[in-house]
Amino acid sequence: MGFNLLANWKLNGSQAFYQRWFAEFNQHYEGSSYIGLGIAPPSVFLSAIAEYPSNPGIAVGSQNIDRFSSGARTGEISSSMVQDAGGLFSIIGHSERRANFGESDADISAKLDLAAQYSLEPILCIGESEEERAKNKTESILKHQVVQALEGCSVLNTLTIAYEPVWAIGRGSTPEPQEINSIHEMIKDVVQSRFSSIDLRAVLYGGSVSAKNSESIFKEKEIDGALVGGASLQGEDFASVANIFNDLKRL
Ligand code: PEP
Repeated sequence: MGFNLLANWKLNGSQAFYQRWFAEFNQHYEGSSYIGLGIAPPSVFLSAIAEYPSNPGIAVGSQNIDRFSSGARTGEISSSMVQDAGGLFSIIGHSERRANFGESDADISAKLDLAAQYSLEPILCIGESEEERAKNKTESILKHQVVQALEGCSVLNTLTIAYEPVWAIGRGSTPEPQEINSIHEMIKDVVQSRFSSIDLRAVLYGGSVSAKNSESIFKEKEIDGALVGGASLQGEDFASVANIFNDLKRL
């Protein structure tokens, strides 16, 4: 199963929050299919959301998994736990984890393999910083991140990548859609040419996607969907983005 539109709730939510969220989403979503849609809530809510009666069939996944499968790792959750809770995917290597929790390329490779081992679709996040972009290093940084993450893997066989320029996250500004499109083309080329045994299912864009800008973004051929942070916190907003996606890409 591939994912096209993922909601990253980050450190937000409560039982009341997701109950309201589904009520809003169900009221505004015009599609009939939920395949390709996913929510990454705080993991304490994973199984409740997977089984919530008003969840119309949106997949759930985690925002992170540990790089080890068990042991003395206080505070962490493993890929097998996410699977056991009904999760179908895991975000891996989000820039907030790289920056705030010191995640290394080796950590990310280990997590990708563990996700694969427990049948979670890994959503690998990559992205350049503002400084790297200003120095015209975007392409080399992204290639480096992809190669470093994938070279260390031995089990991984399917993958979704989320291109998330760090400077665009939560800022309200995005690269030009054509620029995102050519970056996605480059990412697909790198994976296909260097890691031909890996099935790259989709390259999503993430960074300030909203109902206002998603039409111009989804019009681009190589943009297979989006990872949505801020605009995924309201069920109505996420439904609007999904409706626009469905109109343009026929989910
Ligand atoms: C994210 O952090 O994954 C993200 C895409 O956030 P936002 O949509 O708020 O920029």
